Amino acid sequence: MIKIVSSLVIGMALFAPEASFATVPNDATTFATNVTTYSMNSTQNAKIERAEDHIKAVIGSDAFRTKVLNFTYNGKKQFNNSNGLTNAQIYQKILDASEAITPGKDNEMDLKIKVYYENSSTVGFTSTSSGYINMNTKFFNTYTPAQVARNMTHEWLHKLGFHHATLYSSSRDYSVPYAIGKIMEQLSATY
Ligand SMILES: [Zn+2]
Repeated sequence: MIKIVSSLVIGMALFAPEASFATVPNDATTFATNVTTYSMNSTQNAKIERAEDHIKAVIGSDAFRTKVLNFTYNGKKQFNNSNGLTNAQIYQKILDASEAITPGKDNEMDLKIKVYYENSSTVGFTSTSSGYINMNTKFFNTYTPAQVARNMTHEWLHKLGFHHATLYSSSRDYSVPYAIGKIMEQLSATY
């Protein structure tokens, strides 16, 4: 029994790492984050830094690439509100990281984050034309770094020009900001 398990582990060690390196493009493994925060305390800043580590690890992973390329909505490999882009084009747009307000493919998530407090159900907000993303401390202060990584990714995808319905519907979960934000949170738990 033990011998069978051992040989399986050796087999995976020989083949699995090479297979994943071959598929992740260079732009994924070199992906960087450039985050400026405003009026945050040291605990809040530490959470942002941990979230940045998650984001870089996840975007550099083969699991992220696979989940984005194989994402399905209405039975087809596509996102809702895709701006007419294929999954592969959306993946490349993330790696290019050209924010609409400061165009240029710099392979880097550029974000300026402000915090505010509001006793509402709004986690945060931004717009494609805004230089900032705004996070409600009502949620931010209780979030894990993986949840913050989801929130940062969601708001940043708006900066790349992706939108979603304002009101909740099940199809909204398949929009680029919601769907990729969720993938980010799920995979963050593994890094
Ligand atoms: Zn949004």
